[in-house]
Amino acid sequence: MAYIGQMNAAIEEGKMTGFSCAKCGRKGITFAVACQTCGSADLQPFTFSGNGRIRAFTILTVPSEQFVNDAPYTYVVVDLDEGCGVSGWMPDIRSKNEVAVGDRVRFTRSYRRGIVFEKIIAKEHGSDSSPEAADAV
Ligand SMILES: [Zn+2]
Repeated sequence: MAYIGQMNAAIEEGKMTGFSCAKCGRKGITFAVACQTCGSADLQPFTFSGNGRIRAFTILTVPSEQFVNDAPYTYVVVDLDEGCGVSGWMPDIRSKNEVAVGDRVRFTRSYRRGIVFEKIIAKEHGSDSSPEAADAV
């Protein structure tokens, strides 16, 4: 499918693309022929910032074959700032002590396959005192 090829090419360039519904504003990262919220087919191309917050994660020590050389790594579901969820992975996070739900992350250009996220390092010491952690839903 042409769209998937375009999306993968964009990811290789360090851009996260998707669509925005012209009618209700819903954002999506995966291809759709119609908006899942309002059903409109008027979906416009949209480029995400790639910044978001971890909604869920799991450490994979027994990965699928294509990631076998990368284990252990962290599979994440990220709520992007623009209001859309996307799954990806964090190659450098190998222990649950290094990651938490609510952590700020960003999409990063990588030679690795798939959608790679990295942590946004807070300027202050200690993640508990971060104002961003306090407003987590
Ligand atoms: Zn819509």
